[in-house]
Amino acid sequence: MKLQDCVAIVTGAGRGIGRAIALALAAEGAKIVVNYSRSADAANEVVQQIVADGGEAIAIQADVASADQVTALVKSTLERFGKVDILVNNAGITRDKLLLRMTEEDWDAVLDTNLKGAFLCVKTLAPHFLKQRSGVIINVGSVIGKVGAAGQVNYSASKSGLVGLTKSLAKEMGSRNVRVNAVAPGFIETEMTAVLKPEQIESVTKMVPLNRLGTADNVAKVVAFLCSPDASYIHGEVISIDGGLFM
Ligand code: NAP
Repeated sequence: MKLQDCVAIVTGAGRGIGRAIALALAAEGAKIVVNYSRSADAANEVVQQIVADGGEAIAIQADVASADQVTALVKSTLERFGKVDILVNNAGITRDKLLLRMTEEDWDAVLDTNLKGAFLCVKTLAPHFLKQRSGVIINVGSVIGKVGAAGQVNYSASKSGLVGLTKSLAKEMGSRNVRVNAVAPGFIETEMTAVLKPEQIESVTKMVPLNRLGTADNVAKVVAFLCSPDASYIHGEVISIDGGLFM
């Protein structure tokens, strides 16, 4: 167990990649805060699964785009567990549209959740990590933040922004033993990609050298490694988990 006694907040952990990350960190012994925004039942199921496997977890509702709700999330976590060691900024949404049809609201919704949400979480936890002189932050980016995609200027900008946030924060906080990294998943089978039509899946799969989509577990295993002491000298990196899509 490589994360024994660690406390981890995973944002958007009721479903998809966040759920897999929560379970993977719990399997390494971490106590988990399963953050959710709307999916209360799913988040409670994740908690039940972790507890059934002998771990410790609680579900806490918070919209990561709201400063007040993020403050409450961190406060409730500290009240329950007394500390935080790991933050995984996983919460994310898409509002895909070609630029000419994209509204300001589409732009704001995606940037507020994907990028400002990560900013609010790191800003709220930073004083705690700096005082503690330790911490691990993982930002869940995307291959789309590296290569762009038609119909995703908002999503792509948010994920590129996370790369800048990751690298700048790594430079700011490294000397205080706070490690900051990002992962950049490719196409992963979750509800987010379930909206793709079969022909879109086929054409995406053809672009992936490994010739298949990834699973949430593929991402979660890498995140668990990056959180562990095995990755103690990896800092400011963006690790692709995309079957070779971007290289
Ligand atoms: P998903 O199945 O749609 O899950 C999205 C998660 O984000 C849900 O748990 C959702 O919680 C949470 N969330 C959304 N808005 C939130 C908010 N304002 N506050 C708190 N939580 C919020 O998507 P996924 O595929 O697992 O994606 C997870 C992350 O991986 C995202 O950042 C996504 O951009 C990234 N990613 C995914 C892929 C892919 O192919 N699937 C590829 C690259 C990167 P609620 O249900 O409670 O709202």
